[in-house]
Amino acid sequence: MSDDDDMPDAGPQAGPDMALARLILALRSQGVTEAPVLNAIETTPREIFTPDLFKDRAFEDSALPIACGQTISQPFIVGLMTQALQLEPRSRVLEIGTGSGYQTTILSKLARLVYTVERYRTLLREAEARFKTLGLTNVVTKFGDGGQGWPEQAPFDRIMVTAAAPGEPKALLSQLKPNGILVAPIGRGPVQSLRRYIGDGEGGFVAEALTDVRFVPLLDGVAKEL
Ligand code: SAH
Repeated sequence: MSDDDDMPDAGPQAGPDMALARLILALRSQGVTEAPVLNAIETTPREIFTPDLFKDRAFEDSALPIACGQTISQPFIVGLMTQALQLEPRSRVLEIGTGSGYQTTILSKLARLVYTVERYRTLLREAEARFKTLGLTNVVTKFGDGGQGWPEQAPFDRIMVTAAAPGEPKALLSQLKPNGILVAPIGRGPVQSLRRYIGDGEGGFVAEALTDVRFVPLLDGVAKEL
């Protein structure tokens, strides 16, 4: 059954294509300007990552609730973090916090291989089903504590953390290539600092703060509940 009959006649401007076009324009005006990043967002159907209750808001520029008390990130932040990662077509990327798999899908369109780790089995299973539906062949998933990274697959060219780390993510930085790039929200409070670490080629890093963000926390261990 569809709810469409109950909707007021919103006119041609309110169609999903128009909502997507508006979203892309909004991202561009806020500084997400790289064409490959915008193209990856434009070709990723956010509604399939969004719970039924919020599907009509899939193309709003806001974070939305998903299962297990988690969230699918705001498209602008997804664009900003993806752009900050400076992906190359040959990049092997580690993502911590699969969640809905929306960010993973965007990374998979811009990199060679994406390794993604999630601490909720339910979220991981649902995300895996979406990757299958979308025909993604370059995503490798793992149920585990992403705070420990993925030592067996290290080192990585790029690492993206989509949950807030309490402090400098040392274990993850140790799994980055010497000239690699890591992007992560850092902080314990409700508002964190989005930081980018760029390897200096000699084992050190140059860190910079990009903007303030609000992420769910990076938690220790795997979730006991499903
Ligand atoms: N990138 C996601 C946003 C996910 S929200 C998306 O596009 O939908 C953050 C996710 O990080 C949640 O799913 C949460 O369960 C997960 N997470 C938190 N701590 C973690 C940890 N230690 N290891 C793996 N995943 C973790």
